[in-house]
Amino acid sequence: MTLPEPRFTWPSRNATAEEVLRWGFSEFGNRLAICTSFQATGSVMIDMAARLVGSGFNVFSIDTGRLHEETYRLIAEYRRRYGITVQLVTPDAEELGSMLTLHGPNLFYEDTLKRKLCCEIRKVRPLKRRLATLDAWVTGLRRDQTARRGKIDKVALDEEHGGIVKLSPLVDWRKEQVFEYASQHNVPLHPLYAQGYPSIGCQPCTRPVRPGEHSRAGRWWWEDDEDKECGMHVSPTGVRREFDLLLDEVLPARRPYVVH
Ligand code: SF4
Repeated sequence: MTLPEPRFTWPSRNATAEEVLRWGFSEFGNRLAICTSFQATGSVMIDMAARLVGSGFNVFSIDTGRLHEETYRLIAEYRRRYGITVQLVTPDAEELGSMLTLHGPNLFYEDTLKRKLCCEIRKVRPLKRRLATLDAWVTGLRRDQTARRGKIDKVALDEEHGGIVKLSPLVDWRKEQVFEYASQHNVPLHPLYAQGYPSIGCQPCTRPVRPGEHSRAGRWWWEDDEDKECGMHVSPTGVRREFDLLLDEVLPARRPYVVH
């Protein structure tokens, strides 16, 4: 039996962040995009990409509609400084309207399932729609962010998103290295870091942390689980979840991820 030709040659396991990014651009060109929420790792990714290929690369961000005003201002600054277009990927208006009508705008404070429902409609589904148009995406994930992220590879096939390639060039960087790079290259950082926010997401679901608290303690702080995720980087278990019942209510027809 003849085996199919491999789609590409993988970069070495010891490749640096720049080498992984360069490999991504040369292998996938315009079919690759950087996904960022404008936290420090995403900012470093953009700066590194600009040094490698100028302004001709794709950047997108999930605009949940509930971001901090400071995030919107930072996006404007990146557009000016790097001359890049930042595509803002928004929730489906019908899905969002249905959720808000059924559960109200601040459903996330009621219980964890409703919080996950909000993340699904505002973040996870928009991300899936965007990724369905790509062959590869770049994230700013690091292994030391949460226990669940401890085993992430620098380059992997993303089965959850149709088998496209997921690059996490900074996966083995420590937080200090990220901020050191940002300082050396004068990369604009999110202003909320200076106000005690180590992790920055949507405005109603993020707050500063107290000294000694885990860096993600300010995300969904009213929930118990320390290993909190929004679902963008987590595979479902395959078991029908209680959560799916909530989702079915909001999306009676369970429309497929339509590519806009
Ligand atoms: S972080 Fe909060 S506001 Fe943002 S999508 Fe998730 S639950 Fe909704």
